[in-house]
Amino acid sequence: MARSQLQHPLWVMGKPYYDLKSYYLNNFSDRVYKVQIDAGFTCPNRDGSRGSNGCSYCDGRGSQLRQKGTLPSVTEQLEWGKKLYKRLRKATKFVAYFQTFTNTYGKLEDLRKLYEEALAVEDVIGLSIGTRPDAMSPEIVTMLDEFSRKYDVWIEYGLQSMHPESLEKIGRGHTLEEFNLAVDMLSSSSIKLCVHAIVGLPWESREMIWQTAEFIARLPVDGVKIHSLLLLDGTPLHDEYKNRPFSLLSRAEYVEYIAGFLERLPPEVVVQRLTAEGYRDIFIAPDWARNKLQVLQHLDLYQKEHNSYQGKLYCPGAHFIA
Ligand code: SF4
Repeated sequence: MARSQLQHPLWVMGKPYYDLKSYYLNNFSDRVYKVQIDAGFTCPNRDGSRGSNGCSYCDGRGSQLRQKGTLPSVTEQLEWGKKLYKRLRKATKFVAYFQTFTNTYGKLEDLRKLYEEALAVEDVIGLSIGTRPDAMSPEIVTMLDEFSRKYDVWIEYGLQSMHPESLEKIGRGHTLEEFNLAVDMLSSSSIKLCVHAIVGLPWESREMIWQTAEFIARLPVDGVKIHSLLLLDGTPLHDEYKNRPFSLLSRAEYVEYIAGFLERLPPEVVVQRLTAEGYRDIFIAPDWARNKLQVLQHLDLYQKEHNSYQGKLYCPGAHFIA
């Protein structure tokens, strides 16, 4: 029997998927916001240890704060973010989101200092740490696992696609096997795992995109972030496009693909993002991606019309065949 869109008790915001606001309300009964932090990291895919050019879609500039000059401390960045979200969103609790570049790419003792500094700020209830699979180690896992006994601790791994040829083409500089190893490293910890995926790589069919969703659904995953492929000025991908233009998704295609992506995920996986945003000064295409609200409204309509909801096609017992 088909399930109704709104039946799942975790989806308290009434969306046909488990959005981040619902997750925070369920777990903290509070308005929680993630405050972005640029802690000055670089990336092994840029500093020469894995690669020098970065992923083909990455602009490599870092945060706007970094572009302005010397970075403020983690505490200062958190205090500014807190003030902003308290005013604009009536937020009461905060997560320190180490976002820029590879946020576990450093010496263990330096990482500990940065994370502890963040956790010492009043009303910070957790960490969310964006990183690459090749920049994780058992020592870092042990340290973060300690924090996770008291705080809400997430690791966000960039995967983007489960297809090795796609990882190669976008120049990720790590393999699917390395990703799997990095996921295994977290398996006996209480750290929560969020995986990033890109929808819209020009050579990927809808079936390939949904295979990535099915792959993620088989992992011990707690969250996903889905990004639309953006063409940004100055990136290798934009250079490729200028030399040989390729087709980009329309908004209708993107909406259909992400709805299908959500249908293949377990209903308890937190959907932390459904479209990329920002980059206004270097944004080239696709034009529709400039307006996040319209993308979300289009998704809402599509899901209603098609009775589409997270988990509709999720089959826990099925084995994924690569
Ligand atoms: S891993 Fe992240 S920061 Fe590094 S090049 Fe790729 S997208 Fe950019």
